Amino acid sequence: MTVVDNMVRLFESMTEWWHWAVAVLMLVLAALSVKVAWTFNVNEWIKDRHERRKERSKVLCPHTLLSVRTNPETGEPDLHVQSLVHSTFGTVEGWCSQCGMRFDDWTESRRFSEQYANDPEYWKKRQLKYQKAAKRVFKL
Ligand SMILES: [Zn+2]
Repeated sequence: MTVVDNMVRLFESMTEWWHWAVAVLMLVLAALSVKVAWTFNVNEWIKDRHERRKERSKVLCPHTLLSVRTNPETGEPDLHVQSLVHSTFGTVEGWCSQCGMRFDDWTESRRFSEQYANDPEYWKKRQLKYQKAAKRVFKL
């Protein structure tokens, strides 16, 4: 039995009008899916998603590092605030060493450090959100 024989049997068994309607519908769907698969570029899509996630992680980054250190003089725990924004030598431009965000004026970043030093819980929340977003940046 050949493929042609099978096709002839299939057409002979299609006695109702809606058999043909279903066949035409399936052909149209098959043609559409081929068209979509042809135009959809997976690599392009992954690259775009990577960029979107990178931008999102920059928005969430606190650009500041908070840590608790022991004060060598008093022996008491101390909150240590460190800005992660570094400046390019001889200019006011800066960048965050954690997320890579660029700043036109790195002195602006002092504002973040003051804000987070006053509210360490908020910093913790932002830092955790950033870490979660940063993990997704390099996940495919
Ligand atoms: Zn940052």
